[in-house]
Amino acid sequence: MCTTYLGAELAARLVATGATIERSLLIRCHPAIEHKTRGNAAVCLHTDADPDRAFKAAQTLVETLAERESSRTNPGVVVAAHNAEAIPDDVGVYSRAAMRTRVTRARALTLIKRHGYRHATWDNGRGVIGALAALGAWHAWDDWTYEQLAYRQAERWGTPRDVAADTVFAAANRWYPTVWDTVDRVANSPVCVPHTPGPVLYGIRGDDPEVLRAVSDAIESEPIDRTHRYMTNQGTDAHLQEVPLADTDNGMCVRTTGRVTRPPETRPGGHVFFELGDGKTSIECAAFEPTKRFRDRVRDLRVGDRLTVCGEVTDKTIKLEKFAVRSLSHSKRVVPTCPDCGRSMESAGAEQGYRCRACGTTAPGKIEEPLDRTLERGWYEVPPVARRHVAKPLIRGGFDAPIHPER
Ligand code: ZN
Repeated sequence: MCTTYLGAELAARLVATGATIERSLLIRCHPAIEHKTRGNAAVCLHTDADPDRAFKAAQTLVETLAERESSRTNPGVVVAAHNAEAIPDDVGVYSRAAMRTRVTRARALTLIKRHGYRHATWDNGRGVIGALAALGAWHAWDDWTYEQLAYRQAERWGTPRDVAADTVFAAANRWYPTVWDTVDRVANSPVCVPHTPGPVLYGIRGDDPEVLRAVSDAIESEPIDRTHRYMTNQGTDAHLQEVPLADTDNGMCVRTTGRVTRPPETRPGGHVFFELGDGKTSIECAAFEPTKRFRDRVRDLRVGDRLTVCGEVTDKTIKLEKFAVRSLSHSKRVVPTCPDCGRSMESAGAEQGYRCRACGTTAPGKIEEPLDRTLERGWYEVPPVARRHVAKPLIRGGFDAPIHPER
């Protein structure tokens, strides 16, 4: 069961008891851990509901609605009796760590005990990690975006979604870039409409809740069961940690800088690889096939280009989400050609330079040949169709170099 739907349903049940919901948070936890659910989502409701009643309602909801048969679904519920402004520092620190590193169930349970939180877990109990991370998130993060979700009527779940794509594109264009990743204009895809079975009809992401509502209202579709708006860490790059190249390791999501030391190469399946180094160490970087046109930007890289790259490290390979060109190499060293016959010279031996066997001409060494570059300085990113939830779209701004946003 979609975590955001459980949050919306719980909010509705609490409101039905007379409580108010001050805000709903949707937190995307560390993307690189293997025990995650598909979107690795956790939700947190800030409410004036009685803590015991809220705890009971959440437990009942998980019992009746969560997909317990799925081995990758291990629900957890945590309830704190204090308000969002009173989140303890150690819970905030934990929440921040859960976004960027592997945190343990034991650490979560220690904090829960220390602060007297109510908690419940099912199956392997791992759900408590995400639940506590969502609880502490308001303390941990400053950058928030919004997602307005529209849910389908239950009898339609699993059937094709009926959403008028032209109205999605019209609304997305009218309110871009306050809303982003609604559509992919090059792929001609309404990316706000998911393909997976489940209750979500569409989700509008952006920086202004009023505009999200306007976009949602402008979309024509099958009847909507309910809508729910979350504040979220989606689109914020909360998962990235800045590290030197030598400190990149499997399971981390990093931002790191180096030079291209081996040129881009397209491998079977359409995946593009190159090597990034800093003189002491190097790591492979990859733009996989689903990143589509982003691969053309990667193919434009040349040895010597200085880059900052962002992405998840798996199998000692950085799966690129975006990169910044810091400086471009404008020449490359090549074997000289013979001035008489135009053919490539051959090595005349170690430290002996080059010569043309046919004409007898010689050259002292490799020569610099100018490179025509199409890339410019600044940030390039995967297109909206390939964006992971937590990755920050360039159009949101705040980057340290010019941006080349994908729309
Ligand atoms: Zn020659």
